[in-house]
Amino acid sequence: ANGFSQNTGKLREQMQNGLLAPGFDETSCLSRYQASAYRKPSSHEPSSYLISKLRRYEEVHKRCGPNTKFYNETLEQLKSGHSGSPTECKYIVWISFSGLGNRILTIASAFLYALLTNRVLLVDPGNDMADLFCEAFPETSWFLPLDFPIKDQFKDFNQKSTECYGNMLKSNLLNTSTESIPAYLYLHLVHDYDDQDKLFFCDQDQSLLKKVPWLMMKTDNYFVPSLFLIPSFEQELSKLFPEKGTVFHHLGRYLMHPSNHVWGLIMRYYQAYLAKADERIGIQIRTFESGTGPFKHVMDQILACTAKEKLLPEVDMRGSYITPSRTPKLKTVLITSLSSGYFEIVRNLYWQHPTVTGDLIGVYQPSHEKHQQTGKQLHNRKAWAEMYLLSLSDVLVTSAWSTFGYVAQGLGGLKPWILYKPDNQTVPDPPCRRVMSMEPCFHAPPFYDCKAKTGIDTGKLVPHVRHCEDISWGLKLV
Ligand code: GDP
Repeated sequence: ANGFSQNTGKLREQMQNGLLAPGFDETSCLSRYQASAYRKPSSHEPSSYLISKLRRYEEVHKRCGPNTKFYNETLEQLKSGHSGSPTECKYIVWISFSGLGNRILTIASAFLYALLTNRVLLVDPGNDMADLFCEAFPETSWFLPLDFPIKDQFKDFNQKSTECYGNMLKSNLLNTSTESIPAYLYLHLVHDYDDQDKLFFCDQDQSLLKKVPWLMMKTDNYFVPSLFLIPSFEQELSKLFPEKGTVFHHLGRYLMHPSNHVWGLIMRYYQAYLAKADERIGIQIRTFESGTGPFKHVMDQILACTAKEKLLPEVDMRGSYITPSRTPKLKTVLITSLSSGYFEIVRNLYWQHPTVTGDLIGVYQPSHEKHQQTGKQLHNRKAWAEMYLLSLSDVLVTSAWSTFGYVAQGLGGLKPWILYKPDNQTVPDPPCRRVMSMEPCFHAPPFYDCKAKTGIDTGKLVPHVRHCEDISWGLKLV
């Protein structure tokens, strides 16, 4: 190949086959340009329909974004309390809520909803979003301005709020005549939501929501699978994602770029400990037991999984030294966990005993923060860096129920082996299984047939929306 086509090939790779837009200041977000040097190119091409939809969205966001004429006009309606004539731009405001893994998944969900309903996504910066993530769209901002009028109410929004959609339905405050359309509504899609809140996933309700200029959304769930069950979105979704199990993979790579601070954490760690390996194995350990651990049954489960699935070589417990018959491979194990106990056991295992293959195993863990500290800046930077480092693995093992692991698998384009959630402190049998797709699981989906107005198993309606491996009542795209 000549230099020219080599360069364009490299550039194409850098822009992830057209997924990423040009037009950013490179130094303001190094990860956007450098990521392709560290990850394998995706084996899933984004559809050209998705790419053109993203380019159109970027235009709309630029036209409607913070402090534009249209933004200010729509803001007037918000301030006045009721919607007037239909506005040029409509918005979905994502409210910062829950752990970082959850937040990454819900931003992607809200963005897909924005694409489907021609809304502009604005991200409430909370206390750390702008520190963790780059701007997602060129020549504008996706962060909600600090002087946004009802910002102080975000933390108090809940199921009982008067502006809550489900609550308004209950009190019969909404009907379809245009005069009564409010300027904004609060959508409560948190795991504890009730039957009325869940009507969000019905076509009839979507046709009413369409008219509301401002939607404020609080959620801790990856609700994308249920969007695929709304008939009016069906056609558009199949054009955007002909390969259904790639939604978060593409949207996550498109939206979530680590800030320069976080990129520094990722790069220094990767280059110092992981770069030289022949194979990288990520093990994400998240327990939902009381106490931080380490727990013996969890350690036993992990080792049972890696042995059974041949993800890590066995050790020779009696051997002192094995002269390898071939050049030994260097494999690195990246462990992430709030506790350092598992790491110490695995590291000692491979230091104190030779592997039967003669391969060398280096074991690393970037941090052990003991417990979740969602409000703290450096804590969240580390969490984001670790999710990202896991996504650079060749082989991945994740924990049931954890959005932290879902983010890593989706960004990495990896189908991990998932460790089942242990019951009664015993090792599940089998300890783990390979997942069906790299999509995250929607933990709290509705089970409702909007047309028949009865309960229904939403995991049995279409072949591409199934129950999850780790949560029997959850839904995921495959
Ligand atoms: P989930 O609770 O596992 O679904 O994941 P979230 O990311 O939403 O919330 C868990 C939070 O706990 C993370 O955001 C971190 O703040 C912290 N955390 C959990 N596991 C780890 C870990 O392995 N490393 C680090 N640095 N933080 C973790």
